[in-house]
Amino acid sequence: MRQTNYIFVTGGVVSSLGKGIISASIGKLLQARGFKVTIQKFDPYINIDPGTLNPYEHGECYVTEDGMETDLDLGHYERFTGIRTTRHNSITTGRIYKTVIDRERRGDYLGKTIQVVPHITDEIKRRMLREDEPGEDLDFVITEVGGTIGDIESAPFMEAIRQLRWQLGRNAVCVHLTYVPYLKAADELKTKPTQHSVKELQSMGIQPDILVLRTERHLDDSMRAKVASFCNVDLECVVQSEDMPSIYEVPVNMQHQGLDAAILRKIGIPVGDSPAMRSWHEFLDKQRKATREVHIGLVGKYDLQDAYKSIRESLNLAGIYNDVKTRLHFVNSEEVTRENVADRLSGMAGIIICPGFGQRGIEGKIIAAEYTRTHDIPTFGICLGMQMMVIEFARNVLGYHDANSSEMDAQTPHNVIDMMEEQKSITQMGGTMRLGAYECILKEGSRVAEAYNEHTPSATPQAPRSVRERHRHRYEFNNRYQAEYEAAGMHCVGVNPTANLVEIVEIPTLRWYIGTQFHPEYSSTVLHPHPLFMSFLRACLNANVSC
Ligand code: GLN
Repeated sequence: MRQTNYIFVTGGVVSSLGKGIISASIGKLLQARGFKVTIQKFDPYINIDPGTLNPYEHGECYVTEDGMETDLDLGHYERFTGIRTTRHNSITTGRIYKTVIDRERRGDYLGKTIQVVPHITDEIKRRMLREDEPGEDLDFVITEVGGTIGDIESAPFMEAIRQLRWQLGRNAVCVHLTYVPYLKAADELKTKPTQHSVKELQSMGIQPDILVLRTERHLDDSMRAKVASFCNVDLECVVQSEDMPSIYEVPVNMQHQGLDAAILRKIGIPVGDSPAMRSWHEFLDKQRKATREVHIGLVGKYDLQDAYKSIRESLNLAGIYNDVKTRLHFVNSEEVTRENVADRLSGMAGIIICPGFGQRGIEGKIIAAEYTRTHDIPTFGICLGMQMMVIEFARNVLGYHDANSSEMDAQTPHNVIDMMEEQKSITQMGGTMRLGAYECILKEGSRVAEAYNEHTPSATPQAPRSVRERHRHRYEFNNRYQAEYEAAGMHCVGVNPTANLVEIVEIPTLRWYIGTQFHPEYSSTVLHPHPLFMSFLRACLNANVSC
């Protein structure tokens, strides 16, 4: 059994400093040095998981292979490191309390008074140490704590970190991220907020080992020296994180500043050779060289960068591997009408019809799907997007003008998208969905089979290809209509072998018109962009047409 080391990443001054990217970068660098790593996120809110949160609150909901709905930072962890996270990598205050309260109800505490310290903090510690995953044999567990220090709700997490540092000695390292504002009028960078943030941390009994200063301007050595001496941190442990043209430059920038080496020295591990980052550098080179642009429309209802984070990143990555810069344009589906659709989509080489829940904006998605189908513009429908392609086809090709999903119209006689029988009895919000990775058998000779084969060559090309993709939905393609769809030209080309559920539809006579019930965006990574995004992007480039 190897010695596991623990890195705690906290943030001060303001939120949204990029703790997720720094945690993912540390993970990447340590992994590239040959260490076995995982990264986990602790969020101080009371929701059991972010599954029921509106994307305006915390951005997209990311889904792990084992079906946990999590914070979007797990997407960064997976994209940077390629590791597969699980339900043990995303914890909220709500889950911690629920575990403790359930235990209390079972009588496990034998009549004791249950308190934040020690019961809640013990449960946090247990999860920070990943005691539910005893066989993992990791070199490093990186724990990112959401929110900012000084918040009432993050106090128990800080107390848990304080205790763990004491308990683990050199095998624990605290990395603290702060913001260094630049005051334009004075033409000065201000380190005072950093000093205050560190003081706050110290008042909770935590001395940070390493400071990462987020700054828009370069900090010279004298500023770093000032921070080091005020905050009791070695000069080499004051690292700056300047704004980068791309988040994928951050690991390399952190390596140049010696962040990974500083962590190793703190723990007492020989620093050794530099991390093996060859493929990462090749990727960055491609990114820098890509100048030609491709314009893709995201037809959805959330005008917010983070709402479709994994889709955006998957498209960016696929663009880079196709030597182009992907320019994404949000198209508000609530505003799309028959009259303005040509205008709203004009100049797009392809469109994504985004996932989503509920009625709002769906008619615009259906109109967009009709427009791109009839104009042969590459189109990728994801989850609700796929369902809208299916509904559009029923209305305009099969002639069922009232076709709908029973999510939107429970009474429709033509419920081409419907709820599975097993789901019908479950009414409680959260936990009623098909979540996580399920198998899908690809139809031989289909466009999707071709796309998967081209971008991830199969060991046995003659066998029907099976893939595993992640889901997050309640409704499904209604198999009663399958024969009609097939006959009219929309083919069901991916099917779940156990439940016989349709996972992928395509219209093979068009350039690229594919809808997936699953979310391929969750498994696209920097070094392994998803085959379907690669294939979609290539089709957009080759089509040489635009709306
Ligand atoms: N609302 C749809 C369903 O529940 C699609 C969900 C999604 O797009 N993730 O089936």
